Amino acid sequence: MVDATSPLEAVDTDPALVGGLILALKERGVEEFIVGDGTGYFNEEKNWLRLLDESGYKMMVDDLEKNHGIHVPLVNLETVHREEFPWNFGTIKLPSLCRTHVYINFAKMKTHAHTQVTLLCKNQKGLLSLADKKAFHLAKKYGNLHENIKELASAVRPELAIVDATRALEGTGPTTAPDGQTKVRRLKMCLGGTSMLEVDNASCQIMGIPVESVLHLSKVPVTIAPGSEPLVPAVPPFARPKSAVMVTDNLFLHMSETCCTGCQMSRSRMFRKIAFAPQINQRFNSFRQEHGRIDFIMGAMADESVEKIRSHGGTLVFFGNCTKKMAETPGIIHVPGCPPDHNDAINVLIGNSK
Ligand code: SF4
Repeated sequence: MVDATSPLEAVDTDPALVGGLILALKERGVEEFIVGDGTGYFNEEKNWLRLLDESGYKMMVDDLEKNHGIHVPLVNLETVHREEFPWNFGTIKLPSLCRTHVYINFAKMKTHAHTQVTLLCKNQKGLLSLADKKAFHLAKKYGNLHENIKELASAVRPELAIVDATRALEGTGPTTAPDGQTKVRRLKMCLGGTSMLEVDNASCQIMGIPVESVLHLSKVPVTIAPGSEPLVPAVPPFARPKSAVMVTDNLFLHMSETCCTGCQMSRSRMFRKIAFAPQINQRFNSFRQEHGRIDFIMGAMADESVEKIRSHGGTLVFFGNCTKKMAETPGIIHVPGCPPDHNDAINVLIGNSK
């Protein structure tokens, strides 16, 4: 559950599939269920509740309770008890639930601007505390983002790993983006197994994305269980993310690998609100027209990279507290917050319009 969007947008694992899995397990004698995630953006209670409403998860558990007598708590993993798990960088705090309960990892098939794909191994970032989610990107406390995801896959392993590819997302994910930057692919399939790595490898085959290009994955042989459909790559292959610079008219978005989910979500929600609220859209367009070129900078960057961007002569907008130090030059727009609230971010931008 990364964003408060409808299942039709293929951003979150479809709640209908999670509900179906619960019913199937109930039939086989399982008595207790918990559905949980740590989102990176919807951490506060009121935001978490909004996420559950808008993603369809609340409706799914209400239906299980009302029509099947199954009570399923929806747990914000940011709030649960954690304990130390050993891993390559010492120990890391993960939910105690991973030890007390059978853990099923149920991920959405998507492409991702930083990691090429987000499948099962990447989905495990949902187990991290908010502080560790940020640390995974900042590459100071542990390794770099790719090493961290890879090592986390050894620290904790699900007993069942499923990828929801009924509707999948291609382009510059992990959430829906305007102007055709992302597109939904209806593959109408799920992939499952007991090895996250093997299922991620199989998913890459379906997406037409070479495993070698995904830095957090190793290539492993894939074995198909008897009775399964063959692994036929999608035609055409999934559109790959544009990770360096995303350009929309005079807006140039530079997102460094150090930019975590918090700012990614805030930026995405900000542009969606601008696109769909006519009054805001009008004022934002005025802001755009007043500047020949606008460079949005997200995540900490080396001085040389900032200087290179500055040399284009555009107006610089630094997004989030990570960029505060780089923004200490007169005339530069800084959007504060960690992450910035998307409504506050809009106010900062249109407040800079004449
Ligand atoms: S400012 Fe943004 S990118 Fe930096 S840690 Fe906070 S949420 Fe993440």
